[in-house]
Amino acid sequence: GQSIRIAIAGYGNLGRGVEAAIAKNPDMQLTGIYTRRPPSQLQPRLEATSVYSMEALSGHAGKIDVLILCGGSKEDLPQQGPELAALFNTVDSFDTHARIPEYFASVNGPALANRKTALISAGWDPGMFSINRVYGEALLPDGATYTFWGKGLSQGHSDAIRRIPGVAGGVQYTVPVQDALEEVRQGSRPTLTTRQKHTRDCFVVLEPGADPEAVKNAIVTMPHYFDEYDTTVSFITEEALRREHNAMPHGGLVIRTGNTTEENTQVVEYSLKLGSNPEFTSSILVAYARAVHRMHQAGQYGAKTVFDVAPGLLSAKSPEQLRAEDL
Ligand code: NDP
Repeated sequence: GQSIRIAIAGYGNLGRGVEAAIAKNPDMQLTGIYTRRPPSQLQPRLEATSVYSMEALSGHAGKIDVLILCGGSKEDLPQQGPELAALFNTVDSFDTHARIPEYFASVNGPALANRKTALISAGWDPGMFSINRVYGEALLPDGATYTFWGKGLSQGHSDAIRRIPGVAGGVQYTVPVQDALEEVRQGSRPTLTTRQKHTRDCFVVLEPGADPEAVKNAIVTMPHYFDEYDTTVSFITEEALRREHNAMPHGGLVIRTGNTTEENTQVVEYSLKLGSNPEFTSSILVAYARAVHRMHQAGQYGAKTVFDVAPGLLSAKSPEQLRAEDL
């Protein structure tokens, strides 16, 4: 058949990842990148990729099957999601969990009114982890679900460190506590506090003359971000930061343990070890773009989440091929 025409709105980490992911999917083609910055400022990964101004998007509606929104969840998507879902089939990775119901409603209206399909909050959490939480709860109703994150770089926490006076640079890793993880895997359904599940490890470059004790104290006592965790702070050089902390690894686990009878405990685990958080997230967005294209062709309009997408729709294989090869 004809290849699915994909475009990218916003060219940061996810935008770059989508560009890479499309190159791995022969049934898709990238028609262009759209940005709020002057297009000439952008250096796409591939020389052949066209870069346009975001204003050009509305004029290109007939040339794009699915637009992948790669803007940030905090400032960009709340505005871009509803606006662009009126014009395009969309996929995004909105990840502010507490605001998903509100975001869903804001996208659903314009998508329905214009007969578009808008898949929100795809990625790994929310996304693949959400699916695994639902499977766990549905298959083992008498049980408990645990989500662990890391070891991984947390963008939000790294940003919070960098805003502290006296800090020139820094990164933060979230790390699951191994003892807690092992206890969960035994199936005893422990009640774990925030502090018992994860530690936070910070690597910080000080500005000249800054007081390390004051900086460390400002980090470990920071409300919401660090005060509920056991946090370590290591001071490093600018050079070490650049050399040893420039990748964006992440990952984590969703574990459901439950009992089918009193005698039998079942443990189900889904685990990710990611060399690059944004590149993996982008690969998920691209697979969901395929599903969105098919759902739109089938007349399924409005906002959707990963819970609404049948697994086979993600695959480049036909239903016949899937039944023969993957069942
Ligand atoms: P970035 O900050 O890299 O990019 C966000 C936007 O900022 C881009 O779309 C781009 O828009 C703009 N931008 C990027 N680089 C620059 C720059 N150098 N100067 C000025 N503007 C720039 O965010 P990420 O791609 O890392 O992440 C996007 C969102 O994805 C995150 O907010 C997060 O919520 C979500 N996410 C979700 C996951 C999940 O599992 N569901 C996992 C990982 C991330 P423009 O080109 O228009 O200027």
